[in-house]
Amino acid sequence: MGTIEQFNKYVMHSYGRYDLVLDKGKDVTADDENGKEYIDFGSGIGTNSLGFCNDEWVEAICSQAKSIQHTSNYYYTKVQADFAKTLCETAGYSNVFFGNSGAEANECAIKIARKYSFDKYGNGRHNIITLVNSFHGRTLCTLSATGQEVFHNYFFPFVDGFIYVEANNIADLREKLDDTVCAVMFEYVQGEGGVMALEQDFVDEIFKLCAEKDVITIADEVQTGVGRTGKFLAGEHFGKKADLITLAKGLAGGVPIGACLAGEKCAQVLTPGTHGSTFGGNPISCAGGLAVLNKLNSPGFLGEVAAKGDYIRKKLADIPEVKSVSGIGLMIGIELKTKNAPDILKAALEKGLLLLTAKTKVRLLPPLTISYEDIDKGLAILEELLK
Ligand SMILES: *Cc1c(COP(=O)(O)O)cnc(C)c1O
Repeated sequence: MGTIEQFNKYVMHSYGRYDLVLDKGKDVTADDENGKEYIDFGSGIGTNSLGFCNDEWVEAICSQAKSIQHTSNYYYTKVQADFAKTLCETAGYSNVFFGNSGAEANECAIKIARKYSFDKYGNGRHNIITLVNSFHGRTLCTLSATGQEVFHNYFFPFVDGFIYVEANNIADLREKLDDTVCAVMFEYVQGEGGVMALEQDFVDEIFKLCAEKDVITIADEVQTGVGRTGKFLAGEHFGKKADLITLAKGLAGGVPIGACLAGEKCAQVLTPGTHGSTFGGNPISCAGGLAVLNKLNSPGFLGEVAAKGDYIRKKLADIPEVKSVSGIGLMIGIELKTKNAPDILKAALEKGLLLLTAKTKVRLLPPLTISYEDIDKGLAILEELLK
């Protein structure tokens, strides 16, 4: 039985997959089972931030696996302490809770916001505003938080207490942010929703209203965070610091992790017994995360990410089929004039280029470490397909 046949027999069919079995990878290139090479412009949905099997990252993971792989959170580990310190100092936050995914990071933020409000104001102030076209995860609670009707099927009853506001609609925000609301949760750049950056005015209004009403701001930086936009956090582009931020995807370079970081206001909300995760803060994930942060904190690294983003945008703008290019840094959405994004993705696969889509756009989330040479190689394939 071939890999795909065996896979489909034993793994549930919850994804629409492409007929590609990836076998091994190095930097921006992966090989399939037959040895055909692919340039990766998707990094496992923004997860392999240092590309495939970066040397320092591999060394960090392997050496941690050889010393201690897991302890439970009843005990302390030095690697979790080191990673937490570096992460909080890099991001400018007080402390962190570790889970294993973006959805879990968001669940944690939602719980903290509701408890903050409950502790201070009591019952009846539990609603959370999220945005139309947002994406916050696949658990029942984060699906409920996700402001897209397509996700609100089959699994009734969903979790109560989410109110959807149209992105960039200040009047809608003002009307819905009433006394029942304890938090506003948003992505600075909506990723799955089509790589759409929020407008500065709208972000300003969120922070202004939330400050006035003691409502918690939650920035879901699961996709935008950890250098993806050329700053460590996308909030830096907007001059804003949310009370809570969530990180996952690229944070540990391709091993599972999720993190909810709190500023001073929310740092003491969780108390013993109020939240937990068996695997959260796993030593191997923390070691991977430290390798990622060491790379991102090296001089000039984030500036290079921004420069590569500019370079790709400039080249894309010269392609006649490209109608517009959205996003920030190496989070790139490409709106096409006549062609259909899923068709381009399939054709690119044939030619040895891995792409993503977001709504009707082609989406690029290349590894942050991609070289200009590999950018040129990948873009040459894309340009040919867009002729
Ligand atoms: C991917 C994503 C999530 C969900 O992360 P998982 O690790 O799949 O649970 C949440 N929010 C945003 C913005 C994302 O892009």
